[in-house]
Formats: sequence, C-alpha cells, structure tokens
Amino acid sequence: MSQHPLPDNLHIDTLAVRLAVDRSQYGENSEALYLTSGFVQPSAEISARRFAGEEDGYTYGRTGNPTVSSFEMRLAALEGSEAAMATSSGMSSVMLMLFSLLKAGDHVLYSQSMFGSTIKLIGSEFARFGVASTMVSQTDLAAWKAAIRPNTKILFAETPTNPLTEVCDIVALADLAHNAGALLAVDNCFATPILQRPMGMGADIVMHSGTKYLDGQGRVMAGALCASEKMVVDKFWPVIRNAGMVLSPFNAWVVLKGLETLDIRMRAQSARAHALALWLEQHPRVARVYYPGLTSHPQHDLAMKQMSGMGGAVLSFDVKAPDPQTARTQAFHVLDSLRVLSLCTNLGDTKTLLTHPASTSHGKLSEDQRQAAGIGQGLIRVAVGLEHLDDLKGDLLRGLDTLG
Ligand SMILES: *Cc1c(COP(=O)(O)O)cnc(C)c1O
Repeated sequence: MSQHPLPDNLHIDTLAVRLAVDRSQYGENSEALYLTSGFVQPSAEISARRFAGEEDGYTYGRTGNPTVSSFEMRLAALEGSEAAMATSSGMSSVMLMLFSLLKAGDHVLYSQSMFGSTIKLIGSEFARFGVASTMVSQTDLAAWKAAIRPNTKILFAETPTNPLTEVCDIVALADLAHNAGALLAVDNCFATPILQRPMGMGADIVMHSGTKYLDGQGRVMAGALCASEKMVVDKFWPVIRNAGMVLSPFNAWVVLKGLETLDIRMRAQSARAHALALWLEQHPRVARVYYPGLTSHPQHDLAMKQMSGMGGAVLSFDVKAPDPQTARTQAFHVLDSLRVLSLCTNLGDTKTLLTHPASTSHGKLSEDQRQAAGIGQGLIRVAVGLEHLDDLKGDLLRGLDTLG
C-alpha cells in the first residue's frame, strides 16, 4: 500500500533499511508495530468501499496490516519482484502457493532433495486432493525435462539444498517450465536475495522461510511468496484472506528489522562458512565436505555464477568411519563435545547451529532411502553464524580430535 515518498532509483541496500509504509503522525524512525486485529473505519461509506475492494485501506488483520505490508514491500524490493505476500511460516507459503495455483488433475514436478515437509505436503497431502507429482534428481536437467507432462503446472526447485548443498540451474529450469507452459517456483531460503535473485533468472515465484536468514537471529516463524503484482492480487490474496495463514504483525516487525542487516550478515556468515569448509576439508577425521564454495563441489562453477560468487552459510561434512554404526557414534561424539555451538534444528541464526540429519530431518527414511539420498550416519550439518572463526574451529576440534 502507500509508502514513504522515497526518490526513485535508490539502491537495494538503501531500500532494505528505508522502504516501508508511511510513518504515523508521531514520526517514529523505527517502523511502527501495529499490534491490532481490527482497524477503525473513518465512515460507513469508506468502509463499504474498502470491503468491496474499491479503495485501499486496512480493515481486519486477516486481510492486511501495515507492519506486514512494510515487510512485503521490503522483501519484494530485495528479490526484485513486483510484489510479495507474507505468511505465517515457510511451509504455509508453500501451502498458499499450491492451494492458489493448482486444482485436481494438475501435476507438480519437483526435486527429490527438497525440504522434507515440502515433499510431504506435495507428495502426500496434495495427492489426497488429486494433484499428481513427480520427484526428480536435483541436478539432472534431462530428468526434469523427461518428467514434464501436459498437465504439469509448476516446477518447484530449492537451491542450494539441505543438507548436501546441491545446486540446480535456475535459468535452465525456467526455460524448461516456460516451454511447457508451466511456472517455475524457487525456494530461496538458503541463498537469500543477497546471493541469488531467481526472479531475474526467469523464476515466476520465489518462496521464503522467513524463519531462517530473513529474521537472522532465530526468533520468529515467518514465510513469504514473491511474484508479479497480478499473481499476488489475483491468486494469493483471495486465498489467504479466507484461508488465514497470515503473518502476525509482531513477527512481521521482527523480520522487517532483520532485512536491514541481511546483506552484511549473509556476507559475513558466508565468508566464515567458506573458511570453515576449507579447514574441515584438511582435517584427517573428515571424509568429505559439502559446500558450494569449494572447488571440490560438483556444481561449483554453476554455484559461483548463480550465487554472486559466494557459497552461502550452510555446509555439511562426513566424519570418517568404516561402517554406518561407527559413523553414527563418531558424529554423536562430535556433537556431544560442543560447548559453544548449539545442537539445534533451524538455520540462518547468528549462532552456529549443528544437526545430525540422519536422526532428525531425515530420520523417518529407511536406511536404503537415506543411502540413496546421500545422507550418511556420519553426516553433520553446520549452519554457520557469526562467532569468531577460531572459536568455531576450536569447538569442532573438541570432538574431532578425540574421536576413538
Ligand atoms: C525451514 C525451511 C522451510 C520451511 O520453513 P518454516 O518457516 O520452518 O515453515 C522450507 N524450505 C527450506 C529450505 C527451509 O530451510
């Protein structure tokens, strides 16, 4: 809705700290938190026009809130999209997208390496309503192409992926989708618009878990979809106003402030992750490191081109072990030896968070499925934060140097 009368052609860094709805009559410098469910209407006539959609204006929290609008405007500016729609979590943004764009008989094509809940939502929940889907290899473009059907409506990709940081080619997938009359949606959670702006590469929708880097300090759940003004207004808005997975104004305010430092956080955390990945690659107890910034990464060249020359802030590594049982024991030893870093689900925090994917995010898979996905028992994921590099290394060494 209405915004500060900012001059045109400001840089993204500036918009990230300045773009918001108008200041209130009090002139607050930090954006106001409008913690209210309803909005008092100036007159019955204006109220009627607002409800009829003939005039802009806030009415009720499920149909809009100024703090939420400020977050949407800022995120859209960062992603280079015409508009954005905030949701209550990353998963509710996936829900809103699928619910708004699909009907029974449609088909969705997506990568087998996507976020686990995304796979469940598409492959199990939406299947109950007659939406078909196919999973393909993240990096095999020929497989994506071969799996397209006449009724394919959405190609959905996430890059880099969790936890193995596989990278797919957004430009190539956008071409594939458009040639088939389908849309390309990209989960941009790991790279964020600081590293990668899928709209400029041909994507039609960018999906976010605001819970991660957009907040950046592990405080609130949030999500968003970035798209054309037409798609947001004609497709997403009519659904969210009835379905109700809206972002709370408080959470919107937290994430709005998070966007102000996204650029410097992403650069600093990415630089630490890169240094840590190089160091881990040299450690005698480490079998393999997965990080797009390493020349050993299978899609290193594509990643550097697509991600502004940075690898992001998430890496994973395998501890060396002769068999899966020993690998699990070794990985648990490294995690249980931490005294500074956190054993904690989530990522995108200023605090470094470690997880053991085989027993958590991928714990429900059979050992065979896990092997196929490349998630070994010795795999540890590190979402690198802002601690000093020496302390990051020191905390990992507590476990790595005392492996039995
Ligand atoms: C966390 C995450 C999600 C889901 O977001 P929530 O905010 O937890 O609902 C989706 N995609 C990726 C890549 C994620 O890391």
